[in-house]
Amino acid sequence: MKGIGIDIGGTNTKLIVMDDKNTLLHEERFHTAPENGQADFIKRLGAAAKRLKQEWKAVSIGIGAAGDMDPEKGILRFAPNLNQWRNVPLAVSLKKITGLDCVLENDANMAAWGAYELEIKRRYRNVVAVTLGTGIGSGIIMDGRLYHGSTGSAGELGHCKLDRAGEQCHCGAKGCLEAYCGSYAIMRSARRAIKNPEAFIARYAAPGRERLNTICLTRAADNGHKPALKIWRDMGENLGRGLADMILFFNPDCVVLTGGVSKASRHFLGPLKSVLASQQITTPFVKVKLVVARNADLGVYGAALLGMERARH
Ligand SMILES: [Zn+2]
Repeated sequence: MKGIGIDIGGTNTKLIVMDDKNTLLHEERFHTAPENGQADFIKRLGAAAKRLKQEWKAVSIGIGAAGDMDPEKGILRFAPNLNQWRNVPLAVSLKKITGLDCVLENDANMAAWGAYELEIKRRYRNVVAVTLGTGIGSGIIMDGRLYHGSTGSAGELGHCKLDRAGEQCHCGAKGCLEAYCGSYAIMRSARRAIKNPEAFIARYAAPGRERLNTICLTRAADNGHKPALKIWRDMGENLGRGLADMILFFNPDCVVLTGGVSKASRHFLGPLKSVLASQQITTPFVKVKLVVARNADLGVYGAALLGMERARH
């Protein structure tokens, strides 16, 4: 069996073809260009998916996108980073064009499914996957199935509150976990702490990427830069507080950390684990496994795999 996986990002839309042995057979991408409107995007996406269906004899489509989704109806309800699109009937439109059943989920849910299949290979039944990027998302797998909640909005870990009078979050509220641990928040701390950003960038930025970003901050921490180490330590402690709540809510077997910022885990995992170890109700914390994903593309892989999973049942 072969399935198409689609990940719609603000800049690029990725398409892959995978088989049910988890082998990646093909990948391609195009510019999302959300400013050209929904109809134009659906037309281009539909044409690409139809071509892949014919070329690879694919039997299913899974689509992940950042934002608020209605997985039951297959509608993208609201996507702030796709030009504020609202009520896009993605799954129905794609089915009309390709003739294939389409599964639509928020990208964190797709990453959770990818983590369940590829990182832990279904060894555990209750899994939380946390996506660490500009924002923070999470997907919940309960007893081997994606948990959606009542409206498809379950797992908004990034907007759980650490401190109601705290840092400003992109969502408009204050004190959200994301406002401490999302990459924009980490870089806000960096801009406050680093006295001479030009010198810092010159010394620590990756060659060809002379900007103050999380990669640069990780390289500084690798070299023992004290303010950089402290920023990652604070981030790990704050993430640990958010995860501790999540572990108390859901009592997962396993928590998988994924997304670009997870690449700095060597600097924040220690403080994060200390927070988990210091909890008073100990049982769920002794039991839970903490895994940093090796795979960088879990969202689009999860989309292809979940599409095939639904086609099988
Ligand atoms: Zn928020």
